[in-house]
Amino acid sequence: MDAEAVKQLARDLGADLVGIASAKTLNAFPPDPLWPQTPDRISESCKSVIVIVSRIPVAAFRAKSGVAVQYMDMMVLRRMDKIAYRLAQALEREGHPAFVTAAQETDWDFKRASYGRLSTRHLGIEAGLGTFGLEVNILTPEFGPRIYLTGVLTDLELEPDQIMTEQVCIGESCSRCLYSCPTDAVRHFGIDKRNCAKEAQEFGFMTSLPVWDRFIDGDAETRKDLIRSRDIYGFWQGLLRVVGSFGDCPRCLAVCPVGNDYHAYLADHQKVIPEKTDEKVAKAKGFKQARKEGDDVSGLNDWNMRWVGPEGYKGIVARQLQEFKAKQRQREERRTPTSENAE
Ligand code: SF4
Ligand code: SF4
Repeated sequence: MDAEAVKQLARDLGADLVGIASAKTLNAFPPDPLWPQTPDRISESCKSVIVIVSRIPVAAFRAKSGVAVQYMDMMVLRRMDKIAYRLAQALEREGHPAFVTAAQETDWDFKRASYGRLSTRHLGIEAGLGTFGLEVNILTPEFGPRIYLTGVLTDLELEPDQIMTEQVCIGESCSRCLYSCPTDAVRHFGIDKRNCAKEAQEFGFMTSLPVWDRFIDGDAETRKDLIRSRDIYGFWQGLLRVVGSFGDCPRCLAVCPVGNDYHAYLADHQKVIPEKTDEKVAKAKGFKQARKEGDDVSGLNDWNMRWVGPEGYKGIVARQLQEFKAKQRQREERRTPTSENAE
């Protein structure tokens, strides 16, 4: 099987996007060399990682609360795992051992904060599917950051895709993710994970610890109140359906103007960002100035630039928007009869 046959199979199984990263490259460029999330730590025989993308249906980002996105997230993840599993089975049937990475699990021997055995964002970038956004989600030209990714590790040597060198994120002059963030967690091509978790993991593991502390230290009355509290019910729902335990906050995904899904269904709904403040605008201006002056920004250092896009932003979103509008016009023209063909 060659790379194109594998990719076609993944698409036939339902992948929205698919790319291939070489294990050799992933081993050479771990996201953080101090804590290397590399295929060789998982399996020395892995030669290629097939990266599969499932997009989150965009209508959920138009709902009045984040619950719609949380529920869709759970279904997208289940479906994506099935696609990856079937792909691994198909590869094995052809004589190429393969297995699926645990996409959403934390490796407890590492940083202990949403730090998996492999970083799926970096897998996607190495497989040529996108580049980092200001909030360090992967942005794909097709669906922006509104996606999930997983990887199938295989012994099969496949031709890898080329990493994108053009920055997909509009960058500091956009900063819409920064403006929308309720906990001000967006850094300069970085993220304050602890602050993000307050909203994104309302009923996640770290959020549960202080509640259990209060329970253990509390008197009988406190324990009784806690057991009937919204918190405990939230954790229960999280255990049942993952809802609330991660991916809880949709804001930076909803407002990102990258992707035709945004142009088609979100631009009007998300035009105004109610969370935008003067302080956030000043912060974005500071980022812009720092980049212009070549200040020492850790998110933009020599190591990280690989994933940001070393060529910088060259207007990919504007080009995409023009193409999108041209297609829309053509569609409308086809629908509206001209005086000539109406006669
Ligand atoms: S998920 Fe929410 S809290 Fe986290 S960075 Fe995005 S907007 Fe901020
Ligand atoms: S909202 Fe703007 S700045 Fe933020 S990731 Fe998307 S394109 Fe980049």
